Amino acid sequence: MTKTSFYPPQRTLMGPGPSDISPQVLQALSRPTIGHLDPLFIGMMDELKQLLQYAFQTQNPFTIAVSAPGSAGMEACFVNLVEPGDKVIVCRNGVFGDRMRENVERCGGIAVMVDNAWGEPVDPELVEQALEAHPDAVIVAFVHAETSTGALSDAEVIARLAREHGCLTIVDAVTSLGGVPLLVDEWQLDAVYSGSQKCLSCVPGLSPLTFSERAVTKIQSRKTPVQSWFLDQSLVLGYWSGEGKRSYHHTAPVNSLYALHEALVILYNEGLENAWQRHRDMHNELREGLEQLGIAFVVEQPYRLPQLNAVYIPDGVDDAAVRKLLLERYNLEIGAGLGALAGKAWRIGLMGYAARSENIALCLRALESVLK
Ligand SMILES: *Cc1c(COP(=O)(O)O)cnc(C)c1O
Repeated sequence: MTKTSFYPPQRTLMGPGPSDISPQVLQALSRPTIGHLDPLFIGMMDELKQLLQYAFQTQNPFTIAVSAPGSAGMEACFVNLVEPGDKVIVCRNGVFGDRMRENVERCGGIAVMVDNAWGEPVDPELVEQALEAHPDAVIVAFVHAETSTGALSDAEVIARLAREHGCLTIVDAVTSLGGVPLLVDEWQLDAVYSGSQKCLSCVPGLSPLTFSERAVTKIQSRKTPVQSWFLDQSLVLGYWSGEGKRSYHHTAPVNSLYALHEALVILYNEGLENAWQRHRDMHNELREGLEQLGIAFVVEQPYRLPQLNAVYIPDGVDDAAVRKLLLERYNLEIGAGLGALAGKAWRIGLMGYAARSENIALCLRALESVLK
């Protein structure tokens, strides 16, 4: 018996990621594979760096894509910047802040937690109190856009407080990049990582990453070598820069990088400001429709992420049954609640290519009919 190929259905992806991918990006993925040290490929990587600098709004020379998903970008920041004994203030208002704590502790660092309720942004006053109580802290880590709850925190203010107390910042921008303003240079953020499959609408498996000069200096003055060989960015840098003398580190995911390049070309041509505005407009369109269905939001209006709409499941509604019907009848995926919101909320993503009126119309029509 021969085995047969796998043909996935055409779903509409309106969960917490992966998001819908534009046909243009899928086409880029199927272009011929060339060697990862081929001069033409190296030229593509250089352009990819410039496009990432645009997306992050930074001039940081250290701006690359880690060859692994967002979680690896997170780990790359922590293993490079946290040395054993380092005290790190970690803000936790959802699932991903808690993963930051895990990372700090596995690096031998000491995590000082600043907690806010699920669905709330990080409170800068609590960050300031922690900084004052722990003058020996060296890093502040926080999630800009908490995908588990749909809350946006004020990265500019938190980063300013960190700087005033001599700390670097590690910022999770996995869901914010391309969806809401993220100004790495203007806000002076130090180590910022993202993911390919959220608002960039690219295939999963890549993690855009940028380090400021301050972050690079801290890495260069480490007393101990980075314990992860693969994620040691001082080695990776020779691969991504190396000006003409690029050396082999690992085999780049060649076709996935074509796809990321294409996704960033689309973002560049649309313009960042226009992409942010489109996410806001689509959020308002979805919000009006959901409110008409009597569905309420988890997060207060000023802190709501347009690209990740966490809403309460109406009373008496079977969470899993609804999501199953949406998938089977409408080929529509929305996200389940995570952690403290499991079984209580749905997460409706409007990320990148998925942030379109057609998708919103489908989602509202499908939800209305399934809820009846
Ligand atoms: C999705 C996500 C991650 C993890 O990214 P993966 O690509 O799934 O590893 C980290 N942080 C946030 C805020 C996310 O939304």
